[in-house]
Formats: sequence, C-alpha cells, structure tokens
Amino acid sequence: MTKLINQTHASNDLLIFDNLESEVRSYCRSFPTKFIRSSGYQLWDVEGKVYIDFFAGAGALNYGHNHPEMKKKLIQYLTEDGISHSLDMATVAKEIFLTKFRDIILKPRELNYKIMFPGPTGTNSVESALKLARKVTGRQTIMSFTNAFHGMTLGSLSVTGNKFKRLGAGVPLNHSVSMPYDGYMGKDVNSLSFIESFLNDSGSGISLPAAVIVETLQGEGGINIASNEWLIGLAKLCKHYEILLIVDDVQMGCGRTGSFFSFERTGIIPDIVCLSKSIGGYGLPMAITLMKPELDLWEPGEHNGTFRGNNLAFVTAAQALDYWENSRFTEEIEAKGEMIRNALSEIVISVPELNGEVRGLGMMQGIAFENNIAQKISALAFKRGLIVETSGTDSEVIKIMPPLTIDHIGLAAGLRILSDCIYDIAVENNALVSKL
Ligand code: PMP
Repeated sequence: MTKLINQTHASNDLLIFDNLESEVRSYCRSFPTKFIRSSGYQLWDVEGKVYIDFFAGAGALNYGHNHPEMKKKLIQYLTEDGISHSLDMATVAKEIFLTKFRDIILKPRELNYKIMFPGPTGTNSVESALKLARKVTGRQTIMSFTNAFHGMTLGSLSVTGNKFKRLGAGVPLNHSVSMPYDGYMGKDVNSLSFIESFLNDSGSGISLPAAVIVETLQGEGGINIASNEWLIGLAKLCKHYEILLIVDDVQMGCGRTGSFFSFERTGIIPDIVCLSKSIGGYGLPMAITLMKPELDLWEPGEHNGTFRGNNLAFVTAAQALDYWENSRFTEEIEAKGEMIRNALSEIVISVPELNGEVRGLGMMQGIAFENNIAQKISALAFKRGLIVETSGTDSEVIKIMPPLTIDHIGLAAGLRILSDCIYDIAVENNALVSKL
C-alpha cells in the first residue's frame, strides 16, 4: 500500500477537490474521504481505514474491486502491447469477447441478438436504443415509466422520471410519454389496463410510440420491482401494438438480480437490451446494445463514436463471462440474496416504529423509510466503515448492492454494521427499539 502513496497525497485533506473540482461532484460528498486502494469488497482510504463496499460502483463492480484473474489478464495484455484504442476496428480482444458472449450468454439462452458497441456508458447505450427504435419504426414517441432512470444525456433524460435530473437539461424534454410503473397506482391497480386504454383510444392525445423503455427493477428510482405478470403483460402489449420493447439492463444486468439478464425471470425477449456498468467486468468503461437482427437497420457509421472499442474492457469482460459458464454463480447470488432479505426483514420487524419496507430482488435490495432516515443511515454507516447509498426521488431508500462476489463473512459484517446503524438512528429518533 505504501508504494501507492507519496508524501504529497498521504494526508486525508480534500482541498484540491473542494477548490478545483466542479460543484457537480456528488458521491464524494456522501463518502468524504480519500480512497487509495481496493480489493474484492473492500476499500481503503489514505488513513488506512477499511470500508466494506455495499455500493459496488453503482453496479459497475459486480465482480468486486481488482478481481485477481481479470487483473492478471489485463496486465498480461498490457505487457504484450495489446491494442488499447481501436475505434471500432476489428481486434483480437474484441473477437474473444464477442465469441464468448455468443457462446456463454446468448446461445444457452436461445437469444438471437446482434451486438452494437455505442460509447462506453449506460446512457450511450440508451441513446443508441432510442435512436434505433425511432429509425426502425419511423415513429417519434418513446413510452417510459414513473421513477425510471436511464441516464443524463438529453434522450435518456427525456425518458427519466426524476424532476431534479430532468430540470438539468435546460431545454424541453419531448417526444416521450411517462406512464405508471407497476405498483405506482397502488398495489391493487394494474397500470397496464390504464396504459392500454391510452393506446387504444384515438382521443387519448398519445401517438403510437416507437418503443417502450423499461427497467425490470428500478434501482435509482427507489428499488421498485415490476412483477413477472406485469412485465409479460407489457411485452404482450408491445407486440400487439407493434411497439418495440427496450429493456434497460444497465444496472440490473450482469447478474445483479440473480440471472445474467434481469428479464430471464419472466421469459420475455426484449427487442433491444441496454447493458453497461458491469459488462466490462473490472469497472472499466464499456457498453453494448443488443438488438434483434431484423432491427439492425443502421447505415455504417450512422451512430459513431471514438470510444466504442475499449479493448482493455474487452479483455476483462471476456474473463468475467467465465462466471456464467454454469448455474453456480446464479445459485450463489440467490443464496446471498436470501441472506440479505432475512437480515433486512429482521431489521424492519425489530424497529416497526420506523415503518421500513423491504424491497428488491437478488443482490439489489433495500429498505424504504419515511423522512430522511435513509440518508442518516448512509452517513452513519460510512463513519463505521460501510459504504451504502440511498435511492428514490427523495433518497428515501437505503440501497444494498454489494459486489456479487462478496463472501459470507463480508456480507454478514456489512449487514451487522447496517443493522446497528439503523437501531442507533431509531434510538436517536426516539423510536422504541425492541432489539432481537
Ligand atoms: N440506465 C440505468 C438503469 C442506470 O441505472 C444508469 C446509471 N445509474 C444508466 C442507465 C446510466 O448509466 P451511465 O451513468 O453509465 O450513463
């Protein structure tokens, strides 16, 4: 560790960031320290304090920090002067990734998709999906959902729910229509009937959309899960009205909910799929957009970009796919998901005064609270060595998303810190605590 630090950077002051970096910075405000090293599910700051990571790079580190096998492959590739930048030219690294993605991910799931490399971020993939849907159908409107989050560029913002984020656009966000997500109108109301009545009625004021874009589980929007029935119904509705179905799997893909794609639990086959974050395996920037072959109507270069061939990410992405060669990893995620569910349920039961509600699936779970409890929990957890973020429009949900590779000891330790913090916050808020 000492090799990484020289005297100038050893102190934990944040002056250069406070003085020079734009006010737009955000996560460093919730986790105010200077990090220097990371491994697996742990991070260290310059003072040597260790943190358990229940945030995992917002889903970009599903395989943990500095995964040893990926690191080995990466170092070897760099040492051998492997191609680093290549626009979208053919490289061996890309060939290996494409081949493995076809053989390990697509074929066993009987999925027939062409693969597009947009720019390396989630929002790049979303933009490419929206553009393609409009091109293919010749229609303009995209239907999205309440509390959706799809990224910060204009097209993605136009299908994002959050008012604060949308206002940042500074221009009208149009050619989109927001509809109620599953559960938005109450537990007993099927929002699909509502949506269908709009599509069916030539007086509804809504023109036939080119596509519907949906997250099967809304991470940023507050860990809202769509039921299998609702998603299947949505896919049927899309088929009936010849609307393309885009699943944004940027955060929920790559195993976060258990299976490689989050929609596998439903059996639906989207027309277009957006993937980013953990597809690169090592936290390196990479995104892909999957499309049914008949939709691949792009002209060469029609959606271009300088960074669509991050070969270093191809190397680690290909290595990461080994996790998916059999069902072992999915089983592991399910077992850890169960452990998280039990711990969260126990917390909620033992502090009923906080009115917490457990939400989520697999290794994307959380507790929704009232008031600003979740933010207080996140701040206290950080002081005690746990990095855990909030989500939801009012940051009302504490969001637990550790690396999928975390071991039981790490998971139990993180959950222990979390539950202690929640109890202590409950006491601070004068809630009666009936500790188990
Ligand atoms: N879609 C979803 C579902 C996301 O969660 C995110 C990022 N949180 C994005 C798109 C945007 O990804 P990026 O920040 O890489 O642009």
